[in-house]
Amino acid sequence: GPAIAFERVAKVYADGTAAVDDVSLTVAPGSLVALVGASGSGKSTLLKTINRLVVPSAGRVTLDGVDVADGPPPALRRRIGYVFQEVGLFPHLSVAENVGLPLRVAGRRDDDRVAAMLDLVDLPAALATRLPAELSGGQRQRVGVARALVTGPRLLLMDEPFGALDPVTREALMESVARLHRTLALTTVMVTHDMAEALLAADRVLVMERGRVVADETPAALLAGA
Ligand code: ADP
Ligand code: ADP
Repeated sequence: GPAIAFERVAKVYADGTAAVDDVSLTVAPGSLVALVGASGSGKSTLLKTINRLVVPSAGRVTLDGVDVADGPPPALRRRIGYVFQEVGLFPHLSVAENVGLPLRVAGRRDDDRVAAMLDLVDLPAALATRLPAELSGGQRQRVGVARALVTGPRLLLMDEPFGALDPVTREALMESVARLHRTLALTTVMVTHDMAEALLAADRVLVMERGRVVADETPAALLAGA
């Protein structure tokens, strides 16, 4: 079955803003889906219904057939890697300590796993002892991706993860993410307002407009229609 299923999902915020309007679709295991669209079109809201940072006003979201409303949100969020634009590294912890933090919170410590994660996101081992302030913006986002994946989630959500970076750095990061997703067979959903980024990395592009998914295409089909 699908890794993710949205069934008639809608979100109306408390102030009456209709952010997501009747979205139904499924995401196959191991696919990399990009959610694109103008600012305010509902991408971030739809993404956050997956890890219950946003609770839908109607409809439901299932992961591997299980309704995300069943069970406590913290348990759900531990199973899902989440990367957002403000990566939120702890400034007084080294790169390795930041990446290992989710393991320590779970009462584990695994230095080999941390080293393997740094390697996976193409961060040189020599950076492991540095503080976040001693890294470039792109390197910090790589640390954020490594931290999101260290506990071995099957699902990775990214909300404009590289939006603040220059185009060259973004492209390098997207190539790392695409490779990582293939290596780990990770189901990945990424919000971006950058169609070029979506076309580069995703195997499926969902275009949102006023809370609705108005196009659902492969990059090849989108390019052919452009
Ligand atoms: P996008 O990610 O495409 O920029 P969002 O999902 O962030 O879109 O926002 C969709 C709409 O919902 C926008 O009109 C936004 O202002 C509104 N919105 C987002 N979060 C909230 C909130 N917490 N309360 C009220 N309105 C919100
Ligand atoms: P993001 O979409 O990544 O959460 P935003 O800058 O859109 O970032 O929103 C920052 C915060 O403000 C979020 O918690 C979001 O839910 C909330 N927010 C966004 N738009 C609105 C809005 N129109 N009214 C109230 N809260 C909003």
